[in-house]
Amino acid sequence: MMVLTKSQKETIELGKKIAQGLKGGEIIGLEGDLGAGKTTLIKGLAQGLGLKKAITSPTFLVMRVYQLPVNLGRARSSPRQWLKFLVHVDAYRLKQAQELIDLGVEEYLGKKQSIVLIEWAERVRGLLKNKKVMRIKLDFGKKENERMITIQAISR
Ligand code: ADP
Ligand code: MG
Repeated sequence: MMVLTKSQKETIELGKKIAQGLKGGEIIGLEGDLGAGKTTLIKGLAQGLGLKKAITSPTFLVMRVYQLPVNLGRARSSPRQWLKFLVHVDAYRLKQAQELIDLGVEEYLGKKQSIVLIEWAERVRGLLKNKKVMRIKLDFGKKENERMITIQAISR
């Protein structure tokens, strides 16, 4: 599926929409150059998951774990009853995937309590192989504020 957004706000709205379909256990790999809108899309995803704290670019931090609100569709019987954490990874400065493993990423990857969002996912391919990953590619559009956002179904 491909979506063309025409402003930062539209990309945030798209993130919110994608969030509605998430249940926990998903890994989303975001690919695209600096400024393509990866962090912006993640802001929308986080808002859609009820996170009140603003997502920032973890410039020096490679991984940041956010606690999701308790009342977010987490009633028993809710499909999201297990979901507790949103994990934001930015692999831009990562030298090797082992650094992420050392930070404990495997506690969250593919686990139903968490949704893991990875910027520059192409840099940690090794870590993600054999894992189901939803890939989202962001490209610059023709106009300054346009972005082409390609969402691929979850695949290994
Ligand atoms: P990345 O994380 O991929 O480096 P950011 O989300 O941090 O990118 O930055 C995207 C930049 O592009 C922001 O300054 C934002 O205002 C701008 N922008 C312009 N148009 C869009 C759009 N349609 N979607 C997302 N960001 C946009
Ligand atoms: Mg970013």
